[in-house]
Amino acid sequence: MSSTLLTLPAVISGGCHCGNLHYSLHWPLAEAPTLRACGCDYCTRHGALWTSHPEAEVRLCIDNEAAVLPYRFGTASADFLVCRRCGILTLTRCEFEDALRTVVNANTFDNLALTQCARINTDFEAEDLEQRLARRRRNWSPLTVVAP
Ligand SMILES: [Zn+2]
Repeated sequence: MSSTLLTLPAVISGGCHCGNLHYSLHWPLAEAPTLRACGCDYCTRHGALWTSHPEAEVRLCIDNEAAVLPYRFGTASADFLVCRRCGILTLTRCEFEDALRTVVNANTFDNLALTQCARINTDFEAEDLEQRLARRRRNWSPLTVVAP
């Protein structure tokens, strides 16, 4: 087995193409994030590769909130944040009574090559709303919104 020296930053930065939405993903784990290709119509059309971890906090900064389109569909229980300026789907936000949680589209990473990350396919179409929210609470990252 070849040993490849991977560079996994403790803070993965990323954002949309024009920089209006930018975030830092504070990654406490030794292994690189796993990328989840969701098989739903919406994510397939975007080619989104989602990642999150319940111990990996995301800090999101939006320079111009008016230039962000929160898109909802299906159970309408999460906001898919698309930049109106550059059209990039950057992350998805779900609000619970106690907290915000998020999954980040790894295609928007600045400083981590996705070739280092394992990929899996996911399909959550069969979930009901309760199962969906329980899964997000378990797996999604805590989200903090910071001022620009
Ligand atoms: Zn943008």
